[in-house]
Amino acid sequence: MKHYSIAIDGPAGAGKSTLSKALAARLGFLYVDTGAIYRTVGLSVARQGGDCGDPADVAARLPSLRLSLTHGPDGRQHMLLGEEDVTDAIRDNAVSRYASQVSAHPAVRDFLLEMQRELARQHNVVMDGRDIGTVVLPQADVKIFLTASAQQRALRRFRELEERGQQVDFEKLRQEIVQRDYDDSHRAAAPLRQAEDAVVVDTSQLDLEQSLEALLTVVKERLPL
Ligand code: C5P
Repeated sequence: MKHYSIAIDGPAGAGKSTLSKALAARLGFLYVDTGAIYRTVGLSVARQGGDCGDPADVAARLPSLRLSLTHGPDGRQHMLLGEEDVTDAIRDNAVSRYASQVSAHPAVRDFLLEMQRELARQHNVVMDGRDIGTVVLPQADVKIFLTASAQQRALRRFRELEERGQQVDFEKLRQEIVQRDYDDSHRAAAPLRQAEDAVVVDTSQLDLEQSLEALLTVVKERLPL
């Protein structure tokens, strides 16, 4: 049976996860958050006392990594390390940095590639990440590049962390976002870039509902739903 896939790529804080999740719920598709997978790898390496920035160290730990992913009845994606549910732990701000570091290593990207493709073979998916339209699912039925200004993205992340009770300095957070954008788009392995056939949706001036409507319009033009 043919399954549809919608690839949503873009920089950190553009609203990818919130919007992809909402879009998937509207369409009855499975939501796959690939950033969460890289975060789980980063968390695992850091917990073991490994060096996330060292490609050889990280690669050596991959074979014993007991990483899996499940979806709850509410469609929420859960990340597991062995038996432990690390879905909340991977949201820690420090883990963003670990994820960005491990994701630069080709061995890590190769290791996770098949897992992501298999999900798209088995389900209708809305998959969000950095390289979904370019590398993971180049044949995706719809490709969206979701973006917003660095200032807006930092503000959103700031509020999100504040709600979770984490105190962070706004300017520091903004600089981290700019740095992470730079690292993600300048790395040699699968850099963040817009697929040639992706539709750009800029959410700087849109609230969540307006952004979701913008995405639905793009999808409905391309899928026979
Ligand atoms: O999307 P999120 O901020 O959770 O992703 C964490 C990090 O994982 C990103 O900064 C990026 O470096 C990496 N990532 C990636 N490829 C993906 C998804 C995330 O390299 N498909």
